[in-house]
Amino acid sequence: MEETLKILVVDDDKVDRIAIRSALTKAGVPIELAEVGDGNEAFSALSTTVYHCVFLDYRLPDQDGLTLIQQLRSSEIKVPLVVLTDQGDEQITLQLLKAGATDYLSKSRISPETLSQVLRSAIRIYQAEMQADLASQQLRETHEELISKNQELERQQQQIQMQNFKLLEASRLKSLFLATMSHELRTPMNAIIGFSQVLLRPKFGQLTHQQRDMVERILNNGKHLLMLLNEVLDFSKLEGGGLDLKAEIFNISKVINLAVSEIRSLAEAKNLSLLVKTDLQNPLVFNDPVRIKQILINLLSNAIKFTEFGEIWVEVKELPANRVVIIVQDTGVGIAPKDFKHIFEAFRQVDQTITRKYPGTGLGLAIIDSLVRMMGGKIFLESKVGVGSMFKIELPRQITLPTVEADTPTSQLDDDDFFCPAKNPPHSSFQSRKTSIGYPKFKL
Ligand code: ADP
Repeated sequence: MEETLKILVVDDDKVDRIAIRSALTKAGVPIELAEVGDGNEAFSALSTTVYHCVFLDYRLPDQDGLTLIQQLRSSEIKVPLVVLTDQGDEQITLQLLKAGATDYLSKSRISPETLSQVLRSAIRIYQAEMQADLASQQLRETHEELISKNQELERQQQQIQMQNFKLLEASRLKSLFLATMSHELRTPMNAIIGFSQVLLRPKFGQLTHQQRDMVERILNNGKHLLMLLNEVLDFSKLEGGGLDLKAEIFNISKVINLAVSEIRSLAEAKNLSLLVKTDLQNPLVFNDPVRIKQILINLLSNAIKFTEFGEIWVEVKELPANRVVIIVQDTGVGIAPKDFKHIFEAFRQVDQTITRKYPGTGLGLAIIDSLVRMMGGKIFLESKVGVGSMFKIELPRQITLPTVEADTPTSQLDDDDFFCPAKNPPHSSFQSRKTSIGYPKFKL
């Protein structure tokens, strides 16, 4: 069943009102009609009742239709409005539509057909306008919401950036502090080691057995401390990007044998066999011999530290694609798979407790990891708790050094800051290792 439409007719002319009523009735539109005679009455009727449509005579006794429409619209009273015009009112129609009239109809054209047509189209237009208004209101709200979310995001982004800057600065200061401290501590430590060595020389004078024992302890502890300091210094340099590789051609088998001979006494002290196998057709590589030895000493120290019985094997062999692999294997405590990833992070140890059995800084593997990356290599770890561990370092036979711009600032510490044990071979000059172009031609 068709909905009954509530219609308000605003016209002071009773004849006109009757004409509208009878036309609408004849048209068969189910209506509930209300009638008022002037603008004021119309305003109060529309303020209290909701109508489906208003037929408004342009000429009212107290005001014209345009004024009433403006008044209604400024009071946010929304209703489809059809203005009924007389002869001569045509020029005003555009203004009426602009002010908010939905449609207009000349009184001379009032008939059941025109009236019902105008009524329906006014309601349709009004509904479409309302929907469009609603949609644009929703759009406006969404837009405003988006703007405020965007502002909030920008604010958060700025905060994150600020925090990031602060963190970077704090990290930079921490690295600088670590580098400066370890650098400063190395000088007195070198004096302690040097003078202990002098004291132990026979030509310096005879020491009693007890004195000799004490000086040897000072020397050993001094060396251990120096190694720890060097780890911290290397770590801070690696973090700050201030550590460069000093590549040259060398015999990798010799460097491996050298590292093993330096560490052998530690293995012997724990009754562990230390076996070496160097199986290379061509032992020459282009890399940093000091850093290769450092990697090996670190892996071997760990293998000895974490092994109570059994053996430690070191092997170096060739791989396809001009690569070599260094393997250090032990029969020690082993590492659980869940710890594989973490032990390569700085300061991470499987046992993080203060009362742990095995001492150490937790920097060794982090340093190895960074160095191997710099060399373009990869580390593989296989381990089983209670059975042992195997660290494999795969390296290109010839590493590629990064090209450095001529005016790139270098580390804050001198190039000579590296702890370089006396037995290590000399490096190529600082200049020649700063660039990847112009290396001497050689065959590997
Ligand atoms: P540190 O030896 O100073 O603790 P590392 O970075 O060299 O630090 O090693 C990190 C941790 O990895 C060690 O604390 C230990 O838990 C584990 N780890 C390293 N090498 C071995 C190994 N050969 N056997 C068992 N655990 C090992």
